[in-house]
Formats: sequence, structure tokens, C-alpha cells
Amino acid sequence: MTRIIFATGNAHKMEEIREILRDLPCELLSMKEAGIECDIVEDGQTFAENAMIKAKAVCEASGCVTLADDSGLCVDYLDGAPGIYSARWMGEETSYHVKNNELIRLLEGVPDEKRSARFVCAIACAFPDGRAFTAEAPYEGRIGYEEKGENGFGYDPVFYVPEKGRYSAELSPEEKNEISHRGKALRNMYDILKRELPE
Ligand code: IMP
Repeated sequence: MTRIIFATGNAHKMEEIREILRDLPCELLSMKEAGIECDIVEDGQTFAENAMIKAKAVCEASGCVTLADDSGLCVDYLDGAPGIYSARWMGEETSYHVKNNELIRLLEGVPDEKRSARFVCAIACAFPDGRAFTAEAPYEGRIGYEEKGENGFGYDPVFYVPEKGRYSAELSPEEKNEISHRGKALRNMYDILKRELPE
């Protein structure tokens, strides 16, 4: 059975990926479980580049097939910001309550049709033999006028999802997984792995 490392320190992401990849012929480990420590400089210009930088670095360090992700929120009115800087925007230590309210402030007076935004997630996979793949998907919505909901994390409370008529933080984890950037990108990666992994 192929051993696959998911290059994340985030337990929530680990659970999500385990669930989506559960029937693949592989043993999925976090970096911690695999005993890998790696200092990685994410200096790519896109989500896909950053995900691939992480996947390749951990693949080289471990000799195992490695998955890595990179994601963020792109607001059209702000020319795509915070984008690849979503985690660092306004400082890594700043609470999301403060960040979300800053987004609301920056879009004050902006009408609905110009408040469009999307979460984007790229998942990269690197094989020790040099094969490399990425899967990317968006989660479309718009910046709301207030924070709403208790679920999710990060920018979810300020992200209004028109197809559900609710904010992302008001969706159950199952509802969010079905339409979210990460859920869709992971399911695309599932199809790639199903094709590329030995039976
Ligand atoms: P990373 O992909 O773990 O580097 O983090 C990207 C950042 O984008 C997170 O820290 C959040 O700020 C934001 N982000 C990515 N996906 C989501 C999501 O599903 N909900 C809310 N915020 C998200």
C-alpha cells in the first residue's frame, strides 16, 4: 500500500482529506505522524505554485508521495486581495473578527454586484519519481455586510454564499464540503490519485 504524506499541521484539514480519500489504496499520514520536519519558504506567486513548493519539499525530505494544499480568499473589488496572503493579511496574529470587519469596511457602500469574491484551493501532489499534479477549485460568493454564523473558520463568517442564501459560517461542515474550494479540489485530486496509484 502506498504511503502518502499530507503536508499540513492542521488537524481539521487532515480529517477532511482522510474522509475524501478514504477508499484509495493508500496509508495517509500527516507530517507529524511521518516524523518529518521541514522549513519551507512559500515564495510562489499562485496558490498552485505554493502548494507544489510544499509538496515537492516534503516529498524530497521523506521519499514518499506527498500532497500539499494552499488556499485563500480573493476579493474582486480589492483586485484579488488578500489572495495568497490570506493567512498573513493584517498580520498572522490578528483575529479573523478584526480581519472580517476590515473587509466589510473596505467594501462600505459597494453594491452587491461588485462584492463578488471566491475562496480558491490548490492541491498539489508530488511523486518521488518526479510525477507532479495539481488540482484547483473555486468556491464562489460575495463579501457580506456583517459577520454571521459559528461554523467554519477564518473568513467564513463574512463570506455570503448566494446559492445557499446563507453565510459560509452558517453551513454545516457537510454542506460546505460539497461546494467548497477544498472539497472540490480534493475530489479532483482523488480522481488523479485513483489513476496514478498502483492498485
Ligand atoms: P492555508 O491554505 O492554510 O495557508 O491558509 C489560507 C488562509 O486562507 C486561511 O488561513 C484562511 O485565512 C483563508 N481560508 C482558506 N480557506 C478558507 C475557508 O474555507 N474558510 C475561511 N477562510 C479560509
